[in-house]
Amino acid sequence: MTKTGGLQNSHLRGLDYSVLQQCMHCGLCLPTCPTYDATKIERHSPRGRIALMRAIADGELQPSKAFAEEMYFCLGCLACMTACPAGVNYAELFEHARAEAEASGALNSPKRNLIRAFAIRWLFMDLSRLQLLGMALRLYQQLGLQELIRRSGVLRLLPRRLQELEAITPEIQPRFSAELIATVTRPRNQKRYRVAMLTGCAQDLVFSNVNRDTVEVLARNGCEVITPPDQECCGSLHAHNGEWELAQQLARHQLDRFPPEQFDAIITNAGGCGSHLKHYHKLLADDPVYRDRAAVWDRKVKDIHEWLAEIGIQRPACNSPAQTVTYHESCHLAHGQKITTQPRRLLQAIPNLKLVDLPESAWCCGSAGIYNLVQPEMAGELLERKLRHIRSTGAEVVATGNPGCLLQLINGARQRGMKLRVVHPVTLLAEAYREGEV
Ligand code: SF4
Ligand code: SF4
Repeated sequence: MTKTGGLQNSHLRGLDYSVLQQCMHCGLCLPTCPTYDATKIERHSPRGRIALMRAIADGELQPSKAFAEEMYFCLGCLACMTACPAGVNYAELFEHARAEAEASGALNSPKRNLIRAFAIRWLFMDLSRLQLLGMALRLYQQLGLQELIRRSGVLRLLPRRLQELEAITPEIQPRFSAELIATVTRPRNQKRYRVAMLTGCAQDLVFSNVNRDTVEVLARNGCEVITPPDQECCGSLHAHNGEWELAQQLARHQLDRFPPEQFDAIITNAGGCGSHLKHYHKLLADDPVYRDRAAVWDRKVKDIHEWLAEIGIQRPACNSPAQTVTYHESCHLAHGQKITTQPRRLLQAIPNLKLVDLPESAWCCGSAGIYNLVQPEMAGELLERKLRHIRSTGAEVVATGNPGCLLQLINGARQRGMKLRVVHPVTLLAEAYREGEV
């Protein structure tokens, strides 16, 4: 790393210095960090990374390529936050460190710049563009072209990395959320709450069925659900990948689209998004127009498991088939939002469902946003470890509350020929309600 006299416009130097100072170097976070566990190298640990960030904030180091690569080797899983006795806010440090890495341009290359400009700055800034891509992919899959191309062996001509990416292309849903969910869904019984439902970006394309199940479960639990059709990405992808201004832009859009004063709760069913959505106030702290509403917003955003635990789950009738289920914790649900008991309570409310413990349930599965795309080796090791533990439970179903984890486990099980159903907990609850009516 290069020594430097100081940095203009540094994201890390702009941080409240007490956040950087909190680490007392005790090392209690080290055994919980997947990248340290795999390498046993200090700079791949939370303590090592925080030391690098602090050196940059102190003007002792320049954000070099090695620094930027280190920040992208970190999963952002936040297991270190759960372990830390000093309450270090690693989530905030991590986002600013990645913004620092991007601002420095240390990782710039024509290929990387093009991919980021297309995916992060263009595609995910307007959901209609993403939906157009989703429709093209859906057609490709529905016409059987994907299967044909896979069987033809032509993919073997592609570079290995492209072959790996093709193998994890998600299956696009036959209909997106706006086609499955009415703008206003009335409660099944007496109205107790009025809530808004966030349908997400990739979630809308790949798991619109989970969105439909979430709205159905809410309606069965006394909620009127408002689901506007023209929604945008929450900005977590941007914040976690160093695009601070774009994340702010998307947060402002959400506040305009879902005025928080109008709802008892704003519901998300994606652990990774929820963790980001609950920090709009920090993101917009310097914005005099939006910061107060952002504070109201943060209080109103609820993960679906959290909200159902707060309002009480109506138990489905006892017609569900017997099933053995284990639960994998999304990092940003468990470590980012500290939501650990509520999903288990939801699963335990389902009749005839036997919940079995998953060893290392809160250890990252390697999905971590787009980590499995950019760090396939480490992501693959973590996936293998996770699937080994799932196998050891003997469960035929694994439930998890985040689209990234769902996709990672679906792909992992499919590629290994495992007979395993991977499902969102809320889908199991929605199914139990439907079975209860038969
Ligand atoms: S976020 Fe995860 S990978 Fe990164 S330092 Fe913390 S525990 Fe390690
Ligand atoms: S546990 Fe917390 S205080 Fe201790 S080294 Fe890790 S981040 Fe620093």
